[in-house]
Amino acid sequence: MNFKKTVVNWPLDSNVIRRNSLNNTFGNVRKNRDGSPRVHQGWDFTAKVGTACYAIADGRVVEKYVSKDYGNVLVISIGETGHFAAYAHLADFNVDLGDSVELGQCVAHSGESGNAKGMAVADQHLHFEIRTTSRPGKGLSGRISPLGVFGECPLRVAVARHDV
Ligand SMILES: [Zn+2]
Repeated sequence: MNFKKTVVNWPLDSNVIRRNSLNNTFGNVRKNRDGSPRVHQGWDFTAKVGTACYAIADGRVVEKYVSKDYGNVLVISIGETGHFAAYAHLADFNVDLGDSVELGQCVAHSGESGNAKGMAVADQHLHFEIRTTSRPGKGLSGRISPLGVFGECPLRVAVARHDV
């Protein structure tokens, strides 16, 4: 992947992993009740319902749909990298399918749609993924760790969206 030519910024004004928990990062980080491993497909950023979500790069809206688990989902291409940023459990969309978006543009507000409904405020979040295909299937296929884009994981200390 080539992110060197693409200016990227964080999706929220303040970005920190939900509950400071590794369970809310990417990969084989969760367990089912029987102890078997369960994947998490992205990072959960703490975000109370209604938090502004921004385009992390210049791009285009390539998917806008509702899924049972992830509720309202928006997928935006990341420049010309061939990768995509996915935002899930959204309350609303500010953009339409096919729209061009600019880095830092407010594209949606976080919510509790899909299986995030009724969470305590401390658990309300933006589920955020970096995808290698716009609409992948189950598991980790078609996704990479957001670490590959941001270079750091804000597990304990929030990282602010910076000026670019
Ligand atoms: Zn999640």
